[in-house]
Amino acid sequence: MKAMNNIFHQLETLKLKGIMETLEEELNEAETKKISYMGFLGNILQNEIKERKNRRMKRNMTGAHFPVEKSLDNFDFGRVKGVSKSEAADLLDFRWLDNKGNILFFGPPGLGKTHLSISLGIQAIESGYTVCFERITEIIDLLKLRNIQRTADYRIKRILKSNLLIIDEVGYTPIEKKEANLFFNLISTLYEKSSIILTSNKGVDSWAEMMGDEIMTSALLDRLLHKAKIFNLSGESYRIQEHIKGGK
Ligand code: ADP
Ligand code: MG
Repeated sequence: MKAMNNIFHQLETLKLKGIMETLEEELNEAETKKISYMGFLGNILQNEIKERKNRRMKRNMTGAHFPVEKSLDNFDFGRVKGVSKSEAADLLDFRWLDNKGNILFFGPPGLGKTHLSISLGIQAIESGYTVCFERITEIIDLLKLRNIQRTADYRIKRILKSNLLIIDEVGYTPIEKKEANLFFNLISTLYEKSSIILTSNKGVDSWAEMMGDEIMTSALLDRLLHKAKIFNLSGESYRIQEHIKGGK
């Protein structure tokens, strides 16, 4: 027993939590199944790798800042035009992410733009990528605050380090010229370094008006649209459909 306590102590010192949690079980199994030393070592190391991967994923999920969890499994592709199930499934190989490509979802409210973006973000985390989710208004607030507020600076730094930034709800609120400039600088910094998923209820032709600067908007779009997959969604708002169904 003392030897076992010693080993636990050593594992704790080395922070090998995955081995610690499974050691007794693995020892029993090795004894009953007569597993070789090499086999046993391989098994416990595999447990440690699995535990670390889980921990990293959990950390990334918290850091990603999703407002809710969504999954492609419960997205009804029959309700919306402009994106098919197989197109969405193709995105899950994340080649676009490896190529620093972007995905843009356009369309009126309630068509599942946020749902699709969050689903892709969660899947990306499960595939080992780092992700940040923010509404554009939040990003602009963070950019404005980063020099005076440490938490804002921390979040912006996390965005800059992530493989994927999801920018939700572009177009609902007009942006001041100074804010648009901060946003443009961020997109410029991320360009070809990481990927962006962006959702907007406004087509790109009305972005200049929203951002209040035509030249900057075209430079911004130039970066966003380069290597971008674009989905123009149309159909009935899911929120309204559910409301009508609920009322019946
Ligand atoms: P948008 O961002 O386009 O305004 P959301 O993604 O927020 O729309 O969708 C509104 C609500 O309806 C969310 O709860 C979302 O999960 C749900 N929803 C939207 N479209 C679908 C769909 N095709 N299948 C299942 N749920 C959907
Ligand atoms: Mg939305």
